[in-house]
Order: sequence, then structure tokens, then C-alpha cells
Amino acid sequence: MHVCVLGGGVVGVTTAYFLAREGFKVTVVEQRSETGVGASFANGGQLSYSYVAPLAGPSVLSHLPAWLLSRSAPLRFHPSLDFAQWAWCAEFLRNCTRARSRQTTIELLQLGAYSRETMHQLMTDVQIDFAFRKSGKLVVYRDADEFDGARRLMEFQASFGTEQTALDATACVSAEPALASIGDKLVGGIYTPSEETGDCFLFTRELGRTAAEELGVRFLYETSLRGLRQENGKIVAALTSNGDIVADEYVVALGNGSRELLRPLGIRLPMLPLKGYSLTVPVGEGNVAPDISVTDLHHKIVYARLGQQLRIAGMVDMTPEGSREDATRIQLLKSQAESTMPEAGDYSAAQIWTGARPTTPDSKPFLGPTHLSNLWLNTGQGSLGFTLAAASSKLVVDTLCRRAPALDLAPYQLHGRNVMRDHPTTFSAVRSGE
Ligand SMILES: Cc1cc2nc3c(=O)[nH]c(=O)nc-3n(C[C@H](O)[C@H](O)[C@H](O)COP(=O)(O)OP(=O)(O)OC[C@H]3O[C@@H](n4cnc5c(N)ncnc54)[C@H](O)[C@@H]3O)c2cc1C
Repeated sequence: MHVCVLGGGVVGVTTAYFLAREGFKVTVVEQRSETGVGASFANGGQLSYSYVAPLAGPSVLSHLPAWLLSRSAPLRFHPSLDFAQWAWCAEFLRNCTRARSRQTTIELLQLGAYSRETMHQLMTDVQIDFAFRKSGKLVVYRDADEFDGARRLMEFQASFGTEQTALDATACVSAEPALASIGDKLVGGIYTPSEETGDCFLFTRELGRTAAEELGVRFLYETSLRGLRQENGKIVAALTSNGDIVADEYVVALGNGSRELLRPLGIRLPMLPLKGYSLTVPVGEGNVAPDISVTDLHHKIVYARLGQQLRIAGMVDMTPEGSREDATRIQLLKSQAESTMPEAGDYSAAQIWTGARPTTPDSKPFLGPTHLSNLWLNTGQGSLGFTLAAASSKLVVDTLCRRAPALDLAPYQLHGRNVMRDHPTTFSAVRSGE
């Protein structure tokens, strides 16, 4: 049986790996010249299984004016004439109620816990070097009300087995001396010892290499998908810039490319690319870089040590691709990081990256079947794609194998998630302009 995996990011490669282990013949289609260079490239490096709360929550409404008006807010929103953006925003706001946000948090915590288990099994089965560390995570707060809220969330999460400790400001700096220069600004932090970090690009590249060399997965690079041809309720070919690919099953793991490819098939995925930025800063002798993975909640910036580098990532921007504002935002990220951890590394040699999270309005990915019998989804992991790749991929592969998955897939499926269906085209779907 031949399975075609569409997309060679962390999600597609992990899917391909699990499929190949099941004995399938697997082909991965990727438009770039290597794996992991889309959204998976220089992300925050967090394997953040216990920090999965959705972006949509009750506090959003009070923050909206700042997002719209302040140039230095960690979240920026530029209204556009794009209908998809407004539909996404309406659905996002519907998910901001306390009840919905709480339910989604529970579902994502379950997915996160299963991802940790699956990732650990994967790391036992294949030896890959991706700067992995069981770093623990310290989320620090500068605002007393936010810290109170975090402690309440900690109690809620404890009922799901998450072990966390609340620390005062002094204890935060003792635990992570790299925070010394902002010690007087902190009100406290929440420490989660079980959290992990790693380099998502290295993970994707090395897992892909192992899958190719040891399990025979075929990677078709520089191959752009132009559409999917459907006949009689199933996909009969993937149409690419290098010809058609005929397979028995097709898994969509295209991240931000998923929506466009699926729309002509009548599947409208409410997903938007939410931009973020990262700096990769060399750490040398004499630097005081954090050993623990740190999140500075006030600025919404994460810090992860990846070998001799410090990855710093943040900002959530709904702004157009290639926006002129990007340079300003990167500069803001740099100055906020430098003032938070001035000795952490050589900021003048920072490598800069802009990426976009493939994000759904409720922050849950789309996993599992579609109305086409051999077309499967594994997309929309948003700001948690590295964290959730293992669970998402294993669940989709189990379902494709017609085996009961370890978690009920219902909360993550396309159907029943307020997703509108367009009128399906009957023959082939070809991307506009190509
Ligand atoms: C600033 C930032 C920080 C982040 N930090 C974290 C973090 O700390 N932890 C975490 O878990 N997640 C984090 N994320 C989110 C995470 O990076 C993404 O969720 C994840 O990379 C998505 O993986 P993917 O495989 O779905 O998408 P991608 O990596 O983008 O892969 C999709 C692939 O499909 C290919 N493709 C698309 N369209 C086509 C087409 N038509 N034809 C052929 N190929 C196509 C693309 O080239 C791409 O390689 C962060 C994201 C950003 C932007």
C-alpha cells in the first residue's frame, strides 16, 4: 500500500516515519529543497506539553485595543479586506468564552500528554541528535494578577497530572541566574520540571534522513503540489509540478499550504498564518545563558538553549507576508530580549527568522478523515507543531490503519468543528495562477 504525504515539515516527516514503520510504501512531496525549512525551521524549540492553552481565551477582549493600537504589543492585528481573515476572527472570538477555552485546554492537555509519551518512544526507537534537553520550563510573571491566574491554572492542570511549582521572584532567579537583571521586576514564576526543548529543524531533518535510509521513505523535493484529483469520493492523484503521483492514501501535512490546496475540493479549513520571529544567538564563554527554558509572559517571549545557541522567539502577528513592519518587530524582539538577558549571548551575531504558525481559531489541529475516503488531515498545529507532531502523526496513522487510536479523535476532527464546506468540484483542484 502506497501513502503520499503532502508536506515535508515536522508534521509531514513524523507522519511519514510512523507510516513507514507500519510497512507502507511512503512518498513525501515537498516544494522546498529540503525538509523542515517552512514553519518548522527556527521556531521556539519548546516541547511544551503542559503549556497548551489556546490563544482564544476570556482575557482576549480586554487585550484587543492594545493589539489594534500598540506597535509594541506582543500580538499585532492588521485588519484586511480578506474574508477568510474576518471569518477566522469571528470563529476565534466565539472560542474566547471561559467554557470553550477550558474545554479546549483539556483536549490539548490530553494531546500534549500523549505527544510526550509518543515522542519518548520515538526517541527510544531512533537515535537522532537534535539538541534535545529535558530543560524544565520556567514561566515568569511581572504582573501580580497574571501570576494569580497562573497559579489557579496550575491547580486546574494538577488534576490532569501536571507537576508544577509556584516560585517567588527570588526563587526564580536562584533557579535561573540568567534572569538576575530582571529579578526586581518579577512577581513570581511557575516551574514545570518535565518540559523539554530541542531544535525542530534538526529533528525534522534527522528523522527524515532515518526514514529515508532505514525505512525507504522517498522524498520528492522541489515538487509543488498543484491540486488533488478526485473521482467517486476519493483522491486518485496528487497533481504536482513534476507530474501526477498515484497512491492509495493521501495525508495533508502542508501547514500553511493546506487551506489553499483543499479549498477546491470543497474543504474549507479555517486556518491563518500567524507570524512570529526568532533570533538564534551564539552562546560563548563568559555568557550567562539560561539552562532552563524560560517564558517571559509579559513580552510573550520564549528562550531555549539549543547546544551552543540560544533560541529566542516571540510575537504573534496577523500581518501580511513580507510586511514592512517585520523589521521593526524583529528589532523590538531583540531589544526586549537584550534587556531581559543582557549577558545571554552575542546579540550582534543573531540570526533572524520570520515564520508563520498554521493556526486554527480554537488552536486545535485538524486530524483524521475527510469526506473523501482516502484523504486524511494532519495540519493546523499552530504554535504547537513541534510539541504536538508526535501525537498528531501517530493518531492519524493509527486511524489510517483502521485501528482505534489511543485518544478519541473527535475533538480534533474536521467534522463537527463549525467548518464550512464549499461546493465540491467534481474533477480536479488546481491552484490558481499555476
Ligand atoms: C516564531 C514561531 C515560534 C514557534 N515556536 C514553537 C515552539 O516553541 N514549539 C512548538 O511546538 N511549536 C512552535 N511553533 C509552531 C511550529 O513551528 C509549527 O506549528 C510547525 O512547524 C508546523 O509544522 P508543519 O509541518 O505543519 O508546517 P511546515 O513546517 O511549514 O511544513 C509544511 C511544508 O509543506 C510545504 N508545502 C506547503 N505548500 C506546498 C505545496 N503546495 N506543494 C509542496 N509543498 C508544500 C512547505 O514548503 C513546508 O515545508 C512556532 C512557530 C513560529 C512561527
